[in-house]
Amino acid sequence: MNTPIKPIPFKELVSPFIKRKLDELRSQYGENSSHYLGLARQYLQVPLENIVYQDERDRHYDAHTDFVVDDKPIPGLERLYRRGLVIEPTMICAAHCRYCLRANYKTPYTLSEEELLGVAKFCGSQERKAVLHEVLITGGDPLIIPNRLAFLVDALVEFAPNIKIMRIATRLPQQAPSRITNTVYRIFQKREGVRFELATQINHPVELSFPETVDIIKTFRNMGVVIYSQNVLLKEVNDDLPVLIDLYDAIRDLGIEAHYLFHCIPLRGMSHMRTSVEKGLRLTNALVNSGHISGRAKPMFAAMTDIGKITFYENTILQKDPTHNSLLLQSQYLDKERKTWNPSWVLPSSAEVDENGRLRIWYLDGRDD
Ligand code: SF4
Repeated sequence: MNTPIKPIPFKELVSPFIKRKLDELRSQYGENSSHYLGLARQYLQVPLENIVYQDERDRHYDAHTDFVVDDKPIPGLERLYRRGLVIEPTMICAAHCRYCLRANYKTPYTLSEEELLGVAKFCGSQERKAVLHEVLITGGDPLIIPNRLAFLVDALVEFAPNIKIMRIATRLPQQAPSRITNTVYRIFQKREGVRFELATQINHPVELSFPETVDIIKTFRNMGVVIYSQNVLLKEVNDDLPVLIDLYDAIRDLGIEAHYLFHCIPLRGMSHMRTSVEKGLRLTNALVNSGHISGRAKPMFAAMTDIGKITFYENTILQKDPTHNSLLLQSQYLDKERKTWNPSWVLPSSAEVDENGRLRIWYLDGRDD
């Protein structure tokens, strides 16, 4: 059902590098080719974004952690799980992926050095140092502010030695490779007791056909940085078995680890990019249980829901509501644990707690028509 809900504008932002690649792909393969569409549909705004459905989300979850420096509330900290904390030092990116969950974050910001110092001390504080060993630094794209990121990493090393793994998320190698300079590489240089992991997102094999991108990935790998990719299943980008096989082969060839393959989140105005969960399950089954790709390149098909990530296994889907095109998904997250790791957390209205204290969630499905 179409409704009069207004979409929240997410400005089209295409980096000069992607613009150039789109021009080249259009003239080489044509506008209807998988090569061109695989990139264009990720970044170019289309009128279909104005069609918004009733149950689509502004944001898909809220894991904000209350945090104050000098009596001032600081944005950019999220926690859902026991082991890890998400730090978002900036909300700025080199290009806007149309389906991004950050699209509806209202106020773009970049944390100051003083605020980042507060974040590092928060991570290393008495209450957290026994259980918090890992951070995901994301955004936005933290590599777009390399000096601020270097400051944060140094501060974590000094004030939070309990942090043993720093995952840093970026799409800069695919969006603006010339912005990966020596200042960026220096951040990832070996430090005693810390492992760096570079998290990225590659949705179509064409993104790994660009020599500029490949050179960067090889440089990070030669530095000993672990690289993994969590990708998004997107209609007319990669919802096709041969494209997925090429994608996971290319990822494997470059030594990138496959992580999640996410069902596209039900963000406002994004229904034209979302397949059904059933199609995602069919494709993933055909991808991983057929000998088409290396066993070391198999992704986990998962949904990002209002209560966090849920990987699809047997009996994950408990119920279907055809009237609202929704699925009731069973998680193993315990309601009481959420409050332990994030006292600011509030049970979303789409969630239920089962008889064992585990969370279930109603999740808006996509459509294949
Ligand atoms: S680069 Fe990442 S954070 Fe930025 S718009 Fe794309 S998916 Fe979102």
